[in-house]
Amino acid sequence: MDLVSVRTVRTPSHRDDLVFAPGDRPLGGGTWLFSEEQPGLTGLVDLTTLGWPDVERTPGTLTIAATCTIAALLRVQPDPDWVAWPLVDRCANALLASFKVWNAATVGGNVAVGLPAGAMTALLVTLDATAVVWTPDGGERRVPVDRLVLGVQTLDLRHGEVIRAFELPEEALRATTGFRRVSLSPHGRSGSLVTARWSAAGFVLVVTAATPRPVVFRWSSVPSAGEVDAALDAVLGADEDWYDDPHGSPRWRRAVSSVFAHELRDEAAEAAAAPGTPATTAGTR
Ligand SMILES: Cc1cc2nc3c(=O)[nH]c(=O)nc-3n(C[C@H](O)[C@H](O)[C@H](O)COP(=O)(O)OP(=O)(O)OC[C@H]3O[C@@H](n4cnc5c(N)ncnc54)[C@H](O)[C@@H]3O)c2cc1C
Repeated sequence: MDLVSVRTVRTPSHRDDLVFAPGDRPLGGGTWLFSEEQPGLTGLVDLTTLGWPDVERTPGTLTIAATCTIAALLRVQPDPDWVAWPLVDRCANALLASFKVWNAATVGGNVAVGLPAGAMTALLVTLDATAVVWTPDGGERRVPVDRLVLGVQTLDLRHGEVIRAFELPEEALRATTGFRRVSLSPHGRSGSLVTARWSAAGFVLVVTAATPRPVVFRWSSVPSAGEVDAALDAVLGADEDWYDDPHGSPRWRRAVSSVFAHELRDEAAEAAAAPGTPATTAGTR
């Protein structure tokens, strides 16, 4: 769509050029920015001209640039022991998006839109990613992704701050993961997306799409079914804790998310009892 209020589009090549006037916003792939009216938007600062490498590997950490497209992320060759890597493909396919959107949409843009169905957010939270945020004074701060996305289109980001990258600990990439997703129609937006990660270090369960923000549960070992129920009730006990939009009612989202949480717990419990089971499991309804 034409953004008729936009007066300037800047293409920075260095961090020093990365300055935001009132009314300016960062531009990733533009797939969301150009898809609807943007009241008050007068300028765009294109992050893709900064030339950030899509991914960087340092000992113990995989860094994904905010400007890495979903398509580029899918082309990354994982290390042989990154058994969690199939989760990238599962989450990319969870987006209600064609390959054309994948080629333009950036990982950072998906997180920064802050939609409950942000599948890159689900991926990053499940893999314990930390966002590197560049601040306008030339500094940076680090925020776990589950604390960056605070609610529907609400982020812990001030005007002038940009997400530079996401840091993923390799330990998380070496863990087993599980994935469950449901939508009201075959190619509809996710109504619930529940993911899990488990290893000797513990069991992590992440609920997105069904809730206004990513919700993470952590246990030091595979929890019992009762512990899963108790945790869900404690944090997401009220209908208001679940997202309500045309893609699903809170009560339905709560019910399917609970089923998914139990399925993933059961898988982790079975794997703990019988080592050697598949490293990444999936289910889509
Ligand atoms: C066909 C289609 C299907 C879609 N399906 C889904 C879906 O199923 N689930 C879902 O969550 N979304 C969906 N979307 C919206 C989706 O989130 C975006 O299209 C995409 O992920 C945004 O990435 P982008 O790089 O294009 O962001 P842009 O459109 O460029 O930017 C999005 C927002 O993020 C800000 N931003 C971008 N990069 C940064 C950064 N590095 N730091 C700070 N702020 C930044 C921008 O200022 C803007 O406010 C869909 C969109 C389309 C067109």
